[in-house]
Amino acid sequence: MSDLPLIFDEPKQKQKAPKHLADMSKEERKALCEELGIPAFRANQVAVHYYTHLETDPEKWSDIPADMREKIANAFTPKLMELVRTLQTDSGLTRKDLWRLHDGTLVESVLMKYPDRATVCISSQAGCGMACPFCATGQGGLKRNLTAGEITEQIVNAARLCASGEMGGEPIRLSNIVFMGMGEPLANYKAVVQTIRNITSPNPDGLGISARSVTLSTVGLVPGVEKFTEEGLPVTLAVSLHTPDDELRDSLVPINTRYKVREILAAADAYAKKTGRRYSIEYALIKDINDQAWRADLLGKLLKSRNAHVNLIPLNPTPGSKWTASRPADQKEFVRVLESYGVPVTVRDTRGREIDGACGQLAASESSNK
Ligand code: SAH
Repeated sequence: MSDLPLIFDEPKQKQKAPKHLADMSKEERKALCEELGIPAFRANQVAVHYYTHLETDPEKWSDIPADMREKIANAFTPKLMELVRTLQTDSGLTRKDLWRLHDGTLVESVLMKYPDRATVCISSQAGCGMACPFCATGQGGLKRNLTAGEITEQIVNAARLCASGEMGGEPIRLSNIVFMGMGEPLANYKAVVQTIRNITSPNPDGLGISARSVTLSTVGLVPGVEKFTEEGLPVTLAVSLHTPDDELRDSLVPINTRYKVREILAAADAYAKKTGRRYSIEYALIKDINDQAWRADLLGKLLKSRNAHVNLIPLNPTPGSKWTASRPADQKEFVRVLESYGVPVTVRDTRGREIDGACGQLAASESSNK
């Protein structure tokens, strides 16, 4: 990572999370088999159980001799996290899981089931160092990066909940993964790229979910976007812009003091050109802060000839914040102005609000209760 600026340096972890199949390359799996004195095909069997059958109970690994199962499970699929609490809403169609990691760190993931799809929103870091003032996670700073194993486990757990029918109604296949939980994914670059490979590699080396169904949301770390463009992983890129002007963005998304609106849009354009994928502009509408019609006009001008689409998010107010969501009339006008430039716009549904979905609030309140 030496070619990236300091901000990408991984914070020191006191005690490393146990290494998991999801952290390993094929070569590393092979080397571990050698170390354990077992044939290399055993690692592939574990991968089939983990990624294809979503089965982590070694007792059910019937193709592996009973007396080897525990040893193999300890080596390849050590327990990385335990469920602390689940909150459900929408008659069980939305659930938020709070996880405790080996060192006591708390992270959360949110799973949403729709008639035709199921989306999991995952955390890539515990806390976040980006300090956006409207975001609950940003207020507590960065605790640590998650390992690829810890990120992948959130996804495999969601896939299992979908497949088992525990989300209610018919079982469904987990179809979409969004990096929109806690953390800045491009500030945990290596683990996030490994996780995307775990998601997109065909069975049994991964979950076999198409890259187009994965959304990577970033504050706009330009060198990270540029490096990611070279990976050849055509996921949907989402840029959390929140305002078209540098003056306001310097305070709403403080990393803007390093990477300006113009630079992040150029990096996203290059990503779109390389992958052929339209990117998203995330825009949390905050009453009287960034929701003026003139800002919509400026945004429309910036985006009209770009391969981008705008996702407006009514602000989910964080505890103690003076900011709130825009008036409905202002939101409507914002949409109208953008559409007048031919810019595609959607307004994000606010599923999971009652359980503080997507904003780090559950983990924050759990920590402050201690
Ligand atoms: N660090 C990544 C992922 C963060 S969460 C990023 O910044 O993109 C995903 C989205 O939720 C981001 O667009 C973020 O700005 C937005 N968000 C954070 N807090 C919010 C809030 N209180 N209300 C609405 N959107 C919020």
